[in-house]
Amino acid sequence: MRISEARKVTIAGAGLAGSLLAVLLSRRGFAVEVFERNPDPRGSGSAAGRSINLALAERGRHALREAGLLDEVDQYTIPMRGRMLHALDGELTLQPYGKDESEVIWSTHRARLNRSLLDAADRDEGVTLYFDHKLVGVDWDARTIACTSPGGGESHAHEFDVLVGADGGGSALRAAMSEVTELGVREELLDHGYLELTIPPGPGGYYQLDPHALHIWPRGGFMMIALPNADRSFTVTLFLANDGDPGFRQLEAWPAQERFMREHFPDAVPLITGLREEFRENPVGLLGTIRCRGWHYRGLAVLLGDAAHAVVPFHGQGMNAAFEDCAEFVRCLDQGDLDWESVFVDFQQRRIDNANAIADMALENYGIMREAVRDPRFLLRKTLEHELERRHPDRFVARYSLVMFHRLPYAEAYRRGEIQAEILDELLERADSLDEVDFDRAAELVNARLVQLLQEPG
Ligand code: FAD
Repeated sequence: MRISEARKVTIAGAGLAGSLLAVLLSRRGFAVEVFERNPDPRGSGSAAGRSINLALAERGRHALREAGLLDEVDQYTIPMRGRMLHALDGELTLQPYGKDESEVIWSTHRARLNRSLLDAADRDEGVTLYFDHKLVGVDWDARTIACTSPGGGESHAHEFDVLVGADGGGSALRAAMSEVTELGVREELLDHGYLELTIPPGPGGYYQLDPHALHIWPRGGFMMIALPNADRSFTVTLFLANDGDPGFRQLEAWPAQERFMREHFPDAVPLITGLREEFRENPVGLLGTIRCRGWHYRGLAVLLGDAAHAVVPFHGQGMNAAFEDCAEFVRCLDQGDLDWESVFVDFQQRRIDNANAIADMALENYGIMREAVRDPRFLLRKTLEHELERRHPDRFVARYSLVMFHRLPYAEAYRRGEIQAEILDELLERADSLDEVDFDRAAELVNARLVQLLQEPG
């Protein structure tokens, strides 16, 4: 079916990707229906589960800009200019993220962001939001989806032209598609989980840590991080093995939890005033990567965001990638009156290698955050990266920066990152400080091995 013959898009999931996509589609004249299993979060307070705040980077910001929503979101986002490392003895070291002050990442509130996106979708006449509607099945011949509401009862059917699965890592649409086609789904659970804690505002209502940094307590096999919230609290996340010593299972009871926290995070414990209650009440979340070989079915359904490619959170890119998906999806639609299947094929082709690349980089980044950042050689490497970036801005850009501050496709960032790593290895083989680096050789290597970076599309 051609786009002009099927103008209704039915989205499963009114989370981050689903609600942004609804806005982008309705602005293009599509009729959009969104089915969300949870109640309207604008009525019931903060969304339960998942992380409380998120790092928003240029890819996500660009998609929000395209939807005309960035200014509103920026009212409650907080710029973070680098990683603030907390050593065991309490010493603090700031490692800037970018080559200068303009390169920052942004801490934003998940529930508030979701509410902004839903408000924007609600303002558009073309969008109808159905809350308390859980997708439970698809009749592909009749072109209907079945949804249930809390309280049980019969499922009800809704007609669709095309379906988009934005229903997250446990996607019900992906499961329904898998019954009729081979998507090649691979789920890799990480053997580490996470627990969220809170540093509330201090006396006088002020932040208890520097709010313009992402705080990290790297401890080798595990780590803790803290991101600022607009209400002057910090959301703290402890990442730790599920089993083992130390591991979440071993830390089931209070005295052991407190001992562990005091031993490894002595400067943070006095700030987390509800430590005991939060250990008791907050669930340990699972982390994993989902990769699929196929994201669509017969011009009828397509997946995006976590439903297509969930990644571990260590590069702070899952939402950013999901937003980039939305922007890329509508770009595929903007090419003319194609049939839906060609749009889905095109979308998958543009995104799938990139999704796999960010999945790999996110896994690698766990090792960097919990261990490498403490190594003086890592610091020297970072300093050299920024120096090469200053000397060769059109060719050498640190991989972290390519991912966070640019919109170069992830797969290309990954590929350039590999070449750059080899250049850095060679330059640092015989150098213990920046003064000892042979910058003539650096220029030769950079010019010979890295093609000029193209200007990113507007
Ligand atoms: P989701 O946000 O999961 O939304 C899916 C929606 O679908 C939900 O509203 C859900 O209720 C609904 N739904 C599910 N099943 C059904 C159904 N059967 N029927 C109807 N509706 C359904 N990303 C970043 O970019 N930066 C970060 O700093 C970051 N930090 C993170 C920290 C942690 C601890 C975790 C776990 C993730 C983090 N992420 C981060 C990743 C980010 O949360 C996800 O990538 C993002 O939420 C994906 O958006 P989505 O819309 O695809 O899925």
